[in-house]
Amino acid sequence: MKNKEILLLSETGKTFLVKDPKKDFHCQFGKIDAKDLKKKGIIFSNTGHQFTVLEAFFIDKYDRMKRAPQIITKKDLGLIIAETGIGKSSVILDAGVGSGASTFMFANICKKVIGYEIRKDFLEVAEKNLNFLGLKNVTLKNKDIYQGIEEKNLDLINLDLSEPWLAIKAIKDSKDVLKIGSFIVCYTPTVPQVMDFISEIKQHKEFNILKTVELIAREWEVQDRKVRPKTSQLNHTGFLVFVRKIA
Ligand code: SAH
Repeated sequence: MKNKEILLLSETGKTFLVKDPKKDFHCQFGKIDAKDLKKKGIIFSNTGHQFTVLEAFFIDKYDRMKRAPQIITKKDLGLIIAETGIGKSSVILDAGVGSGASTFMFANICKKVIGYEIRKDFLEVAEKNLNFLGLKNVTLKNKDIYQGIEEKNLDLINLDLSEPWLAIKAIKDSKDVLKIGSFIVCYTPTVPQVMDFISEIKQHKEFNILKTVELIAREWEVQDRKVRPKTSQLNHTGFLVFVRKIA
């Protein structure tokens, strides 16, 4: 059986993921013996640097996934989860998958996630990430969502692709894809994309547009009396359009 990964927290606050705790671990702060990785609490490297040994959580691995195209950030995923209320009984379709940031964040809390990705090279990266995270409730498909949807009775379709309005036809043409009361979320970086998506949705009476949100998260520096927003940080990521299927 695979040993559980370990997280080492250095004195400087830097963290290291130890994928194989049966082997000695090497990093910029020296070598840590495999026998010390079995301990709990404080350990030291051969150069005298101190580490705290922690069990690696989902998020420690998630943050270390390989990246291919632009991902949906955690702040935006948090809002999608909170606004749609998805959880342990939800079945979700995520398109496109890219390297899987949204797919796997949803999978961590949902019953099942199906991911559609048109590019085989991105799908390979996502499959490696899936294997690394060890999630068992994800099905990745090399599929173009604009050509149709195989799944039925979904609780949410999350759209993160350049022409999300084209997916609406596929949703309508493929029977019973979404439950009544379920959601479509469209994540898109530019205003014209939001406009085109909303004007498409408005043509279909079975969908109700709830809201369009841009979420700006400001991180702060907190050091003694130097308490202020960080000078350099992520600003705009994308707009989120929330839609509900009402009929
Ligand atoms: N949501 C992902 C990022 C997706 S990036 C994350 O959070 O990590 C957008 C992806 O959509 C790209 O990988 C692109 O190849 C894929 N894509 C574009 N058009 C598509 C389509 N019609 N069907 C499925 N995937 C598509």
